[in-house]
Amino acid sequence: MTKNSIHNLEEIASQVRRDIVRMVHACQSGHPGGSLGCTELLVSLYFEVMDRKEGFDVDGIGEDLFFLSNGHISPVFYSVLGRSGYFPVEELATFRKINSRVQGHPTTHEGLPGIRISSGSLGQGLSVAIGAAQAKKLNSDDSFIFVLMGDGELQEGQIWEAALYAPHNKMDNLIAIVDYNGAQIDGPTAEILSLGNLRGKWEAFGWNVLDIERGNHMQSVVNGLYKAKELSGNGRPTVILLHTEMGHGVDFMMGSHKWHGVAPNDDQLASALGQNRESLGDY
Ligand SMILES: [Mg+2]
Repeated sequence: MTKNSIHNLEEIASQVRRDIVRMVHACQSGHPGGSLGCTELLVSLYFEVMDRKEGFDVDGIGEDLFFLSNGHISPVFYSVLGRSGYFPVEELATFRKINSRVQGHPTTHEGLPGIRISSGSLGQGLSVAIGAAQAKKLNSDDSFIFVLMGDGELQEGQIWEAALYAPHNKMDNLIAIVDYNGAQIDGPTAEILSLGNLRGKWEAFGWNVLDIERGNHMQSVVNGLYKAKELSGNGRPTVILLHTEMGHGVDFMMGSHKWHGVAPNDDQLASALGQNRESLGDY
């Protein structure tokens, strides 16, 4: 610690939350719930924990890399990338518009700096991250690979094939993060398809497992991510169970799966903006 004070990171998070609701409102489409829930995580990664190089190089040699597997939470990803300087923040105004580089789900086709994979089809990001982690090992590159998955996404079978592979190959440069909000598009994960003892499952597959109990508390998230980095070198990949709240930071969206993929109307936007101060300037 630290490149940024916790206060500065919280100021950035407030702006990112404004960006998220404004983007989704402007096109009346998109996914605010998971985006708001993962705001502290993405801000912590890009503004504090990841060792990044200036500019964007798709090979990512000698720098920490992040892969978003649950691509539908693109609003938070685009906002953080823009605010980090990968592209002009004004481009956020084109979210989900025809010919925009800022599409509903990230793809490499648009050539948007910061985007390393297409995602949206769930279950694939961990496998991609493993490939990148293995490449770093082979190249004696000691930087880290981060990947974020939704908890509902863990219902995809490919996740568990990948979960088996990483410990066998001693990928201790890999940090997987589960957005453990207990909710998915159709309802609580416990009702749709229960994840059961999630810590026990990952441990049984040979992973270090870290819980971040307060996934919307900046200091807790920063501490947890640094702790995950410290665990490297023990031959095991690490998974973080990040306990978040869907819709966090906007009172009428918090704690409900109903805002997974719904846009706010004009009055709701005004209310959401009233709850999150403009710290860096709206795009
Ligand atoms: Mg979820």
